[in-house]
Amino acid sequence: MRGRELRGELDAFLAETEQELVAFRRDLHMHPELAFAEYRTTQRIAERLTAAGLTPSVLPRGTGLICDVGSGDGPTVALRADIDALPLQDEKDVSYRSTVAGACHACGHDVHTTILLGTSLFLAQQAAAGLLPGRVRLIFQPAEELPGGALEVMAQGGISGVDRIFGLHCDPRVDVGQVGLRSGPITSACDKIVIRVSGPGGHTARPHLTADLVFALAKILTELPAALSRRVDPRSSLSLVWGRVEAGSAANAIPDDGVAEGTVRCLDENAWHAAPDLIKSLLESVAGAYGIEATMDYTRGVPPVVNDEVSVEMLAEAAERALGAGAVVPTQQSLGGEDFAWYLESIPGAFARLGTRSPDGLTYDIHQGTFDVDEQAISMGVRVMAATALTALWEVGPLDSITSAMA
Ligand SMILES: [Zn+2]
Ligand SMILES: [Zn+2]
Repeated sequence: MRGRELRGELDAFLAETEQELVAFRRDLHMHPELAFAEYRTTQRIAERLTAAGLTPSVLPRGTGLICDVGSGDGPTVALRADIDALPLQDEKDVSYRSTVAGACHACGHDVHTTILLGTSLFLAQQAAAGLLPGRVRLIFQPAEELPGGALEVMAQGGISGVDRIFGLHCDPRVDVGQVGLRSGPITSACDKIVIRVSGPGGHTARPHLTADLVFALAKILTELPAALSRRVDPRSSLSLVWGRVEAGSAANAIPDDGVAEGTVRCLDENAWHAAPDLIKSLLESVAGAYGIEATMDYTRGVPPVVNDEVSVEMLAEAAERALGAGAVVPTQQSLGGEDFAWYLESIPGAFARLGTRSPDGLTYDIHQGTFDVDEQAISMGVRVMAATALTALWEVGPLDSITSAMA
């Protein structure tokens, strides 16, 4: 019953607001701002929320903001949008093309931002009518592409007291009106690794008097990926792949240093956490066998986004409630990264893929200067996010609240 009423309320709200939202998105699209430089974007969001009677709180750096709707003793559900653009040239020929050289909303974060703004306005109306059974925390997060904005939000207490968090991302391979969902990991981890080796060099006539560094480096390059594949669960798809290697300068001289660089990709969160220590111990054992010194610089990217099953069920129920039966489609785990993962390491939640392709239209790709969306995705996104927040508030029973309060 609540679902049917909700759909009618969303219809009425969007009939009034959809044009404004499309204009808002186009304005953001024309004025893209890169990670941690989203000052104008933050101001525009803050102004609109304030005009709706809400009280946004801008993060200390001046980019990104958090805003609560509703209050009371009920549960708290967070909705998150990322607001930053990419350092790419806009290659589209549209009236709302980027006006900033070398910057473009090529990942659809202008759409995510607009959807969350629309959702905020709707929820503010619900709260004013006494229809919000708890609190919704709106997180307009800066710097997803860096990544790191999620950690900034968390450092400011952005998810403390939050029971569950939801987010979505444009998916240009899914038709508008559909939502791609998946329990468990939905994105991947990607880290960078740099290995430096050193040892006494010398003439290639006398390798036994040196550490034969090029040979030892070659052993490291082949042994590490091979040993890794035997030391971790193959289902985690932990893979170390080298992209650069350099050592030596002459055919008959053994060098005294060398370097190799690569990436570590992983579909599984536990394997991702264990990867640096494991790779380091393998490196030490191979280097030790050949008498060379080896050091490792391991740069963490983001963990995989791991969707909580209960939250996915809530999202699925909400999407069907808001968009109709058949709106939910399965989606695959992508090899891309997404810093929403950091939130899900602390609290349960789910991340959805929002269809943005026009039926029978072109299939774009994200992170391309040609990327664009079917703007009907904005109202679809508002429907899904608003219904998800309400569904989660209706269903996050007192038991969940008690459990999280005790944890
Ligand atoms: Zn991106
Ligand atoms: Zn993105």
